[in-house]
Amino acid sequence: MIKTKNDPINSFIVVGGGTAGWISAAILARSLTNSNSSITVVESPNIPTVGVGEATIPSIVDLLEYLRIPLKEFILATNATFKLGIKFIDWQQKGHHYWHPFGFVGNKIDGKPFYQHWLKHQFNNPQFDFTDFSPAIALAKKSKFYIPDPKVKNNLSNSTYALHFDASLVAKYLAEYCKGMGVTLLQQHIQSTTLDKQGKIETLHLDNKTSISGDFFIDCSGQQALLIHKALRVGYDNWQHFLPVDRAITAQSTIEETIPPYTQATAHEHGWRWKIPLQNRTGNGYVFCSDYCSDDDALNLLKQNSTDFITEPRFISFTTGKRDKIWHKNCLAVGLSSGFLEPLESTSIYLIMKTMLNFVECLPNKQCERPTIDEFNRLIDDEYHAIRDFIVLHYCTTKRKDSAFWQMWQHINIPDTLKTKIDLFKCQGRLYENKYDLFSADSWYSVLEGMGVRPRSYDPLIDASNYNKINQAFTLSVTELTNSVSKTLTHNEYINRLRTT
Ligand SMILES: Cc1cc2nc3c(=O)[nH]c(=O)nc-3n(C[C@H](O)[C@H](O)[C@H](O)COP(=O)(O)OP(=O)(O)OC[C@H]3O[C@@H](n4cnc5c(N)ncnc54)[C@H](O)[C@@H]3O)c2cc1C
Repeated sequence: MIKTKNDPINSFIVVGGGTAGWISAAILARSLTNSNSSITVVESPNIPTVGVGEATIPSIVDLLEYLRIPLKEFILATNATFKLGIKFIDWQQKGHHYWHPFGFVGNKIDGKPFYQHWLKHQFNNPQFDFTDFSPAIALAKKSKFYIPDPKVKNNLSNSTYALHFDASLVAKYLAEYCKGMGVTLLQQHIQSTTLDKQGKIETLHLDNKTSISGDFFIDCSGQQALLIHKALRVGYDNWQHFLPVDRAITAQSTIEETIPPYTQATAHEHGWRWKIPLQNRTGNGYVFCSDYCSDDDALNLLKQNSTDFITEPRFISFTTGKRDKIWHKNCLAVGLSSGFLEPLESTSIYLIMKTMLNFVECLPNKQCERPTIDEFNRLIDDEYHAIRDFIVLHYCTTKRKDSAFWQMWQHINIPDTLKTKIDLFKCQGRLYENKYDLFSADSWYSVLEGMGVRPRSYDPLIDASNYNKINQAFTLSVTELTNSVSKTLTHNEYINRLRTT
C-alpha cells in the first residue's frame, strides 16, 4: 500500500487589514470552512490602508457569490453604485470619447464574431459605433440600470455590471464577515520577522513584545511588502518603462445629482483623471507622471475638474510592476505587496481575488512543494502580463501629441506580446487568443476601435453572409436596444429602490 503523507497547514497568518488582507482572509475562511486551520489577521494600528481602490470589474459580483454575501446588503453597507463600463474621454485625441463596456457587444452571426460583420459594415456604410450594440453602454449613456434575469432572454441580457464602492467600508464589512467566520484579528504592529533554517517565515515579532508563529503567511502589507520583500528578499520586476505614470493625487468631492453608472477616465496633459461616483460622494484622482507634472500642477488640475472637495487631497507614489515571485516558500504576496498595475482598468481587486482563488485551488501541505509553487507563479504571471498589455494599449495608440507626456508615447517600446497582437489585428481584425487574458475580445475591440486602430480589411468568410439582411438587422437592433433602455429604471431610481425595499 502506498503511504500518503498529508501534513495540512494548521495556521494561516494574514499580514495587513486593507482590501487585500480582508479579501484574502474571507476567501480563506470560506474555502476552509470545514477544516481545522486557524486564520489570524495582523493589522498595524500605526499604518493606515492606502484608502483607494473603489472601482471594480464584474468579477466582484462572482466574489460576493463565492463568499455568499447578499449583493443588496453589501451595496447598502459600502455606499456602492453600479458600474457598466468605463467612459474614456480625450484619449485618442482631445474632444473624442469612447466606451469600454462590460458584457458582450452584439451576438455571433453565421458563426462569425459580431465584430467582423460590423467591420465590413464600417468599410461600406459607417453608420454605427461598435459599442452602439452594447446593452451596457446603451444603459450607461442614459444613466439607466438593469440586472439581466438569467431566466429571461431579451436584448439587454448581454449586459453585465460591476460596482463602485467605499474601500474603507468594504474593509470594515469584510472584517465583520471574517470575524463571523472565526478569523482572529490582532491589532499589532509587526517589528521584525524570524526565518527558520530553510529560509521560511517562522515568527512575527510584535510591538507589544509578543510574537506569533504560523505555517503559512499571506503578505497583504501593501507597499511595505513586509514579508515577501523585506523578509524573503523577493525582487520586483519594474514595468515603468512600459507604464511611466508613477504618482496619483486623490480627493473626495460632493455628489452630483445624477449618479452615472460608469467610471470616467479623462486623459489630461500628463496622465489621466478618474471620477468614481458613490451613493454619498464622488471619488476623484489624477494619475500622472512625476517627470512631467509637479504636485502643485496635479492638485490644480484635480481642483479645476471636481466639485467641492470634502476630504484633504492625498498624494500616493507607486511603481508599476510585479513581484518576481508572487508565491515564495511559505509566503504568498497579495495586493500592493505583489505588484501594481496602474488603476486605469480597475484590475487590482480582481488580481487580489484571482491570486487567492488560484492559491486555494493549489492549496499546499506544510511542505509547500516547489512544483506547485512554480505552476501557481506561472499562471498568475500570465494574468499580470495580459492585463499589463491591455493597459499599455490605451496609451500607445493615442494620436495626442499636445504635451511631452503624450509625445513620449510615440517612442516607447511596447511589450512584444502587445505588438504582435496589434499587428495581427491590423491585418483583418483577428485577435490572438490568450486564455489567461482577463479581457475578452469585445474589450479589445472596444478599446482598439475607440483609439482609432482600424484593420486594413475583414475576414473574407464574412462575404458568405447576406450583407443587406445584416445591415437591416443592425438598424433594428440599435432601435430595439434604445426602446428597451427607455423602459428601465434610472441608476438613481434603482439604488433608491434598493434602499427602500
Ligand atoms: C492611486 C490608486 C488608485 C487605485 N484604484 C483602484 C481601483 O479603482 N480599483 C482597484 O481594483 N484597485 C485600485 N487600486 C489598488 C487598490 O487600492 C489596492 O489593490 C487595494 O487597496 C489593496 O491594498 P492593500 O490591502 O494591498 O494595501 P493597503 O491598503 O496599503 O493595506 C496594507 C495593510 O498592511 C498593514 N501593515 C503594513 N505594515 C505593517 C506592519 N509592519 N505590521 C502590521 N501591519 C502592517 C497596514 O496597517 C494595512 O492594514 C488603486 C491603487 C492606487 C495606488
